[in-house]
Amino acid sequence: MQITITNAEQLKTKPDENQLGFGTIFTDHMFNMDYSVEKGWHNPRIEPYAPLVMDPSTMVLHYGQGVFEGLKAYRNDKGGVQLFRPQENFSRLNQSNRKLCIPEIDEAFALEALKQLLTVEKDWIPSAPGTSLYIRPTIIATDPFLGVRASFTYRFFIILSPVGAYYAEGFNPVKIMVTKEHVRAVRGGVGDTKTLGNYAASLLAGDLAHKAGYTQVLWLDGVEQKYVEEVGAMNIFFVIDDELVTPELSGSILPGITRDSVLALGRSWGMKVSERKISIDEVIDAHASGHLKEIFGSGTAAVISPVGELKYGDTVITVGDGQVGPLAHKFFQAIQDIQYGVIDAPQGWVE
Ligand code: PMP
Repeated sequence: MQITITNAEQLKTKPDENQLGFGTIFTDHMFNMDYSVEKGWHNPRIEPYAPLVMDPSTMVLHYGQGVFEGLKAYRNDKGGVQLFRPQENFSRLNQSNRKLCIPEIDEAFALEALKQLLTVEKDWIPSAPGTSLYIRPTIIATDPFLGVRASFTYRFFIILSPVGAYYAEGFNPVKIMVTKEHVRAVRGGVGDTKTLGNYAASLLAGDLAHKAGYTQVLWLDGVEQKYVEEVGAMNIFFVIDDELVTPELSGSILPGITRDSVLALGRSWGMKVSERKISIDEVIDAHASGHLKEIFGSGTAAVISPVGELKYGDTVITVGDGQVGPLAHKFFQAIQDIQYGVIDAPQGWVE
């Protein structure tokens, strides 16, 4: 399928690369594509970034039938542009699509469309240390209809946003709080995919954690509220003695691409790596007996987010000595170096 390109008549002023935050500035162009039952996915086009005009009855606004992804383009030290495991994002987008009865996209074509969009917007990819171009592919249900069913029409779009270094103030440990009052996801639900409503449903617990002075919520499983699942919108890792543990993909955990990368690197370094159930009691006990060395989150935004303090009911533990642990640091450095082309990537990780 041919992608038509319509150039913006006026280009925006580029922001100061050293003042970039997250997700507030958008580039000059976006990718759009439509779906109808008769035509399937059709009319792929790169055109000026613009508001979507929607009927107030548009289905996504009412029933949340929409999915998205998040990945980044990085400028390497030779001035080239790199994507980190983008096929995985489009494959996960299709997993999300299947869960929400949205017609699947052609993953290879979507990646090709993204690359063409990045070519058009190459001057928007920042080069200051730690900065990148955040990529947000999204699919929404567009039928103007108030009945509850899967939409017959959809819009797939990709927008781009230059973002600053996540750790502009240094690689700092965060404080996390276990919630027993709220759950993020349940097995058989949609927590293992990136659907819009998952994020709306996580806001209240996040808000309560912030009010209590914590950065992120540590989510437990939705059945017994016993096993650790994720932290905020990140996967979670524990270092217990020489074992690197992350919760196994239970059906309610998002299969993070950073998570998978940490596991693969850990294994390639000869570490003892386990994907298994880990209860919050095991974490607290491991801390009490001196075996808990590190906790860190993993995700596209931060890469690695070290945890310095964990609160569970009345118990507050300091992880390690409250500083960034050596493994959090090692994974952060390795993954970032791969993303920015400083070191060679494992086969197929960089496009
Ligand atoms: N869990 C949730 C709920 C997320 O939203 C994300 C971010 N996509 C992650 C984990 C981390 O996934 P990834 O490493 O692919 O960014």
